[in-house]
Amino acid sequence: MIIIGSGEAGGCAAVALREAGWAGPITLFGEERHGPYERPPLSKELLTDTEPPRTRTSAEAKRFAELGVILRPNTRVAEISPERKLIRLQSGGSVPYENLLLATGARARLLKVPGSEYALTLRSFEDAWALRHLLGAGGHAIIVGGGFIGLELAASAVKLGGRVTLLESRERLLARAVPSALAERIRLEHARRGVLFHFGTALSRIERRAVILDNGERISGDVVVCGVGAEPETALARKAGLRIDNGIVTDDRLRTSDPSIYACGDCAASIHPQFSDKPMRFESWQVAREQGALAGRNMAGADERQSIVPWFWSEQYDLHLQIAGLPDLGETMVERILTDETQLQFHLDHGGRLVGAAALGKLSDLARDMRVAQMLIARNATPDPAALAATGRRLKTLLAA
Ligand SMILES: Cc1cc2nc3c(=O)[nH]c(=O)nc-3n(C[C@H](O)[C@H](O)[C@H](O)COP(=O)(O)OP(=O)(O)OC[C@H]3O[C@@H](n4cnc5c(N)ncnc54)[C@H](O)[C@@H]3O)c2cc1C
Repeated sequence: MIIIGSGEAGGCAAVALREAGWAGPITLFGEERHGPYERPPLSKELLTDTEPPRTRTSAEAKRFAELGVILRPNTRVAEISPERKLIRLQSGGSVPYENLLLATGARARLLKVPGSEYALTLRSFEDAWALRHLLGAGGHAIIVGGGFIGLELAASAVKLGGRVTLLESRERLLARAVPSALAERIRLEHARRGVLFHFGTALSRIERRAVILDNGERISGDVVVCGVGAEPETALARKAGLRIDNGIVTDDRLRTSDPSIYACGDCAASIHPQFSDKPMRFESWQVAREQGALAGRNMAGADERQSIVPWFWSEQYDLHLQIAGLPDLGETMVERILTDETQLQFHLDHGGRLVGAAALGKLSDLARDMRVAQMLIARNATPDPAALAATGRRLKTLLAA
């Protein structure tokens, strides 16, 4: 069994494969010099904490050794030959496989404007380490992109005593994934902390320490960082002739168009039967972990369909955001106001089925309700909207309904 990509998904797949009873060799190839590590701290604690958290690498390495998983860091896979069922390594040599998993993740998108090479991006530990030094010096950060990475970077830069100007091409923040009322609360919190926003902007050029807008305005700073999304890493799959559609397309078992090759995590666009018959791609720590585990089990011979309720979180200052399911699929919204600071939104489809939930505020206030929301979504529940809104009623009681 070969796994390409030793990130969150690849690491979980290796463990699951062994735990599911596969007794033969498992090799995990990763082009980075580290073993699997978590990316969420890269835009948060790793930038701001005096003692940055340790990555998970050493613990993972120990677990792999116990399970007999061979980890090959610093090893880029250059090509897959599906007909011969082998992979070719960049450094030379080839390795045969029985089943192969693509867990190649995503890479930071670059803006297609002159000078884009001057902007830093954030995907890897090395990117974060470079940013830690630059942002740690205070100064003025120009951040392009009002998505999760851009906003978490802005919060970290402010925490480090820096000044931030954030440019967003649309008219609001987090337009892809977060309901507008919650996104507006996030904007207000950043503005209160001094972040300066420019909405509806287009860039014409980037320089080492400045951006030039298409109206000719020049904004100068100390560092320019781009957080304009990520693109699935599909090059190997494309070359191997696998089906691609905003990610490596898989069925609901995470199997690609080649039955011996699976894909999972940020690189995969897979069928989530509960939500749609079209492939969907998520960039989420929890989805990467659960899909990795599912792919591992299926590669070892199980035949499990995907039943994952996607879940995502973000932290900015003291604000905690969580999204479960797919709020976009909802037609009506019910609010549950827990405190002045913490609110939840439930999104119901035309049949009254709970398809998504979003929460913003204090983690200790919202965590329990969001866990219940996730369970209700998994069960295709059609909860009474009045009960969802009634803060006097514990949400847990709806699980029994
Ligand atoms: C800065 C940052 C902050 C985040 N914060 C959050 C958060 O707060 N909450 C949340 O839910 N999610 C967050 N995420 C998203 C989450 O980390 C990702 O969804 C998750 O890491 C995806 O895991 P993956 O294994 O699919 O891909 P990755 O973790 O990207 O791993 C893929 C690996 O494959 C390697 N690879 C690619 N091609 C090859 C090749 N040809 N040969 C060998 N190796 C190869 C790559 O180098 C990489 O190491 C964040 C992501 C980033 C970047």
